[in-house]
Amino acid sequence: TMAHSKDLLVLENFIGGKFVPCSSYIDSYNPSTGDVYCRVPDSGKEEVEAAVKAAKYAFSSWSSKSPLERSQILNKLADLIEHDLEAFAQAESKDQGKTITFARTVDIPRAVYNFRFFASSILHHTTECTEMATMGCVHYTSRTPVGVAGLISPWNLPLYLLTWKIAPAIACGNTVVAKPSEMTSVTAWMMCKLLEKAGVPPGVVNVVFGTGAKAGEALVCHPDVPLISFTGSTLTAQRITEKSAPHCKRLSLELGGKNPAIIFDDADLTQCIPTTLRSSFANQGEICLCTSRIFVQRGIYSEFLKTFVAEAKKWKVGNPSDPTVDVGALISKGHLEKVRSYVKKAQAEGARVLCGEGVDSLVLPTGNQKGYFMLPTVIAEVKDESCCMQEEIFGPVTCVVAFDTEEEVVERANSVKYGLAATVWSSNVGRVHRVARRLQSGLVWTNCWLVRDLNLPFGGMKASGIGREGGKDSYEFFTEVKTITIKH
Ligand code: NAD
Repeated sequence: TMAHSKDLLVLENFIGGKFVPCSSYIDSYNPSTGDVYCRVPDSGKEEVEAAVKAAKYAFSSWSSKSPLERSQILNKLADLIEHDLEAFAQAESKDQGKTITFARTVDIPRAVYNFRFFASSILHHTTECTEMATMGCVHYTSRTPVGVAGLISPWNLPLYLLTWKIAPAIACGNTVVAKPSEMTSVTAWMMCKLLEKAGVPPGVVNVVFGTGAKAGEALVCHPDVPLISFTGSTLTAQRITEKSAPHCKRLSLELGGKNPAIIFDDADLTQCIPTTLRSSFANQGEICLCTSRIFVQRGIYSEFLKTFVAEAKKWKVGNPSDPTVDVGALISKGHLEKVRSYVKKAQAEGARVLCGEGVDSLVLPTGNQKGYFMLPTVIAEVKDESCCMQEEIFGPVTCVVAFDTEEEVVERANSVKYGLAATVWSSNVGRVHRVARRLQSGLVWTNCWLVRDLNLPFGGMKASGIGREGGKDSYEFFTEVKTITIKH
């Protein structure tokens, strides 16, 4: 700790309504400069124990508040975050490497909206009731909060994804212990500073910072945490499933993807190309919903590829705080190396890299020479069996391949272990319905991408996850249901 300069941000855990220091810390970097940005508590069993205790203590009073009371508090918190939107956006951009424009227009507005949405949603649920007149019975269901919810989130959309869990959990009357990614903890810590003012009672929201192996696993293994909502990689989800099995925990798992875009020859390319560029490269390709396999029908393949590559080359890579920049820095040095290694593997297998990594030169501003930057990269002539077409790369890399028939493309699109999101481009309504129905994918966007109605289910099939989140789905996940029978 002593070796670091005084102006370095040092985060503290938020437990029982108070900021508490930790006995050890880890460094978190600014990906656009390679410098240490802040020090994050390296929490473990002890800190998680204290947070769970505080959450358990707060549960009885919070769970007995009316939905309206909780709703008002969530709305107040949304207002407070919105009031500080610019400060949150700056911090998210600096901590994660994403462009300031993306943080300002996507991450923080959505975090605000997550609280507003569930503040409203919680007021509108009804339960079921059935009557058995001949038996003189009525049955009805009753829903109650579960208890202390463990929430674990990744680094790509830090506050956005964390609040997508905190908001429904506390709206339903649970109390929470949240653990953000150790690489992007700052905005969660900033949010903690607003909780008291919003009227969130001490212990309702606790945040422990630290690594997955120590803090995350302590939360997953804690006997008094009956449910875990996790967003992250499939590998980590397997570990969480194993570790929580002895406790029979309720799990919601939102995992990785290898999302196809299927572009038929009757697609409107003036819409399709700009949207597919966004779906490939937005947030440096670090969105679980990003497209990384583009299937283009043979008749328009060359035309598509030519325009797509020309447009990809126009994406400006550089300092994330520059509002004219389209691509910021990747999350870490290790991740950048991993993403680059996929491009090398593709080349070694005989694929053609048409632009980006290893082909074009990347010129960076003086202050960003040590940042983790990479150009948007388009690869063609990749075999379906290649790791670039099978594994999640999670960077600004996309593969473009040709197909002939509807039957063939559905089979190829489904031939990966993942099943999160897909886009289908065609002006033939019948085809759009047929293909959407046959794709093994939790979300299918036709002639658009990333348009979300939070009322509807979000989540993946196959290795992309278990469970769904959304208005009704999150309500069901974060409550216990009971069937009660009354005989007169
Ligand atoms: P990750 O699995 O490495 O980490 C996610 C979180 O889990 C972090 O907070 C981490 O500290 C924690 N963690 C790690 N090991 C743990 C363990 N053993 N026990 C408990 N917690 C542990 O994922 P990441 O690299 O941070 O995020 C990228 C991944 O997230 C990608 O695969 C991406 O597709 C996925 N993702 C999915 C969605 C979705 O909604 N489906 C959204 C965003 C990101």
